[in-house]
Order: sequence, then structure tokens, then C-alpha cells
Amino acid sequence: MLTLKNKIAYLFDMDGTINIGNKAFPAAIELFKKLHKMGKKVIVLTNNSSRTSKEHMAKLIDMGFQENTFSVYSSVDVTIEYLKEEHPKSRIYLLGTNSVKREFERNGIQISEESPDIAVLSFDTELTYEKLKRFCRFVREGAFYVATNPDINCPSEEGPIPDAGSLIAAVERSTGRVPDLVVGKPNPTMLHTLLEKLDLKPEDAVMIGDRLYTDIEMAKRAGIDAILVLSGETRKEDLKMPVQENPLVFESVESILKLL
Ligand SMILES: [Mg+2]
Repeated sequence: MLTLKNKIAYLFDMDGTINIGNKAFPAAIELFKKLHKMGKKVIVLTNNSSRTSKEHMAKLIDMGFQENTFSVYSSVDVTIEYLKEEHPKSRIYLLGTNSVKREFERNGIQISEESPDIAVLSFDTELTYEKLKRFCRFVREGAFYVATNPDINCPSEEGPIPDAGSLIAAVERSTGRVPDLVVGKPNPTMLHTLLEKLDLKPEDAVMIGDRLYTDIEMAKRAGIDAILVLSGETRKEDLKMPVQENPLVFESVESILKLL
């Protein structure tokens, strides 16, 4: 049985776990404050690659989360770190929003609109047909193909909206290729990098998320405890695995607040 109070780092998924669209779950705001008071590290670990971490942070503060009670680490951050470390000299074409593109440039990544070595696909909420066409051409021509995250839909106030995973499917239909590397959850690299930065062991952390194939799968692969919340994508009926393999399941983060 998981002893929550002994954990040092509490890693939260964003969409569907602590908020939906621009609405925060009030219990999540209280939970962050409480954990912060208890001296715990609170990190929002998101696959959402439509914005930079700074922008996610600002948006969360706008929604009512208290500044300085949490930090944000996203699939964009991990992708940038990966490109800087493994492909420092490569030219990159990014299918992504302008702000994420600027973040790539700020980090010294060379962006190329014509002959990239690497094609990076992210959750491009500013997608145009021209960008998609160009991306498919580079993939067809043999560029190394990286995706920031595999999420099919992103929960929003209007219901599910197509995320990077849907764009991956479009590119596959056109080119026959799937990404050579998917950086975000469930790839455990994101967790490994983060734990290393924090100088923590897997048993010091707990991952809280609403999705089995990203949040919970990543925690499983990295060997850290996981809590599934039913406030986002997953429904009770989706839990088809044997009961003993189930992650700890709660209706929402409010149940965690009551446990602490
Ligand atoms: Mg989620």
C-alpha cells in the first residue's frame, strides 16, 4: 500500500487532473498549497506541447493556482534537452506553435524551414495545411522523426480536441511513417531526467494523472507509484486490467487532499 505522506515529490498531470481547459479544479489549488506548506515538491508534468512551461505556469496562476507552490516541466522542455544533448548540430523543422518555436530558438536550436535533419511534431494549435504538407514532405524524404507527445486528444471545455497523436496519425496516413522517437509520457525519460535534476529516487515520488496510456504507463515503466484520477479521460469501465495491477484509483485529486 502506498504511503502518500512519505513522498517527497508529487508529480501531477495537468489537463484532466488539475484543470479542464481554463478551469482549475478548486481541490487541486488547495492541494498544491497544502503540499507546499508540508515542504513537498509539487511539479506539473505535462505532455501539452502547445505552449512553453512558462506559459503553462502563467495560465495556471491565472486560473487561481498560487505562485511559488509548484513548477512545470513539459514534453517541450524534455524535447529541447534531448535535441541539445543528442543532436546539437542538427537543423530542425518544428510543426508547432510560434511560442514553442521561439523557445527552441532561445535554447540555441537551429530551425530550418527548408532542409531539416530532424522533423519535430508537437501539439500545433496553429496548424495550417502548408505546415502539415511541408512536414510530411520532410518525413517522406527521410528526416529523423521526433514527436513531443503521443496524446490523441486534449480535454478542453469544448470536449476533446485533436492533440499531437491525431497529427501523428495524419502524417502516418500520408507518409507511412510513425515517429522514430516519442519524447513525452509514457516515455520514462521525462521522469528519469526530472528525478535526476531533483536528486531523488523513484520511491520518493508519486505520479498523479487521468490517463492510463501516458501518466500511469510512464510511472509503471519508471518504477514509481501512481494514482489514477477519474476526473479526466479514463472512465471506471476502462480499467480492464486485473485488479491487483490497477493503480490506486480516486474520483479526483480531492480524495488526495482528504488523505493528507
Ligand atoms: Mg491528462
